[in-house]
Amino acid sequence: MKSVAVIRAGPAGIAAAKALAEQGLQAVVFDGKSHLGGMWQDAQAAPQGPAWEGMRTNLSEHNCCFSDHSHPSDMQDFPTVPEMGKYLSWLCTTLRFGKKYQALN
Ligand SMILES: Cc1cc2nc3c(=O)[nH]c(=O)nc-3n(C[C@H](O)[C@H](O)[C@H](O)COP(=O)(O)OP(=O)(O)OC[C@H]3O[C@@H](n4cnc5c(N)ncnc54)[C@H](O)[C@@H]3O)c2cc1C
Repeated sequence: MKSVAVIRAGPAGIAAAKALAEQGLQAVVFDGKSHLGGMWQDAQAAPQGPAWEGMRTNLSEHNCCFSDHSHPSDMQDFPTVPEMGKYLSWLCTTLRFGKKYQALN
């Protein structure tokens, strides 16, 4: 199987890796940080990031997710940053990206 490097493990990189997998290509995702999820993981893993723990999304839970992987049913509307981080981690585990993730530092 061909493998493709994806640089940046935020939502955009996860979407790229997902699209590659759907085309039968293996994505290896690289990021400068030690966690997947980009700014949505920063409140916990890197408090100096652009998002803060009490922040909520400005789009509802129905729009802040992948169309084929909705948020869990107990998710509040306009999820918090930790909830988004949890969702993205869950998504990466479900799609098995975790094993193909490498921190660059
Ligand atoms: C304060 C704020 C609030 C927001 N609120 C919302 C919202 O409510 N709803 C919404 O849909 N969008 C919101 N956004 C938009 C937000 O940008 C996207 O939701 C989303 O996180 C963008 O995904 P991304 O993957 O492009 O970037 P990011 O989530 O920023 O992830 C980028 C990743 O790339 C890595 N990286 C960067 N440069 C390099 C490099 N040279 N080498 C290796 N790794 C690198 C970083 O470490 C990071 O992990 C908000 C943005 C901000 C700043």
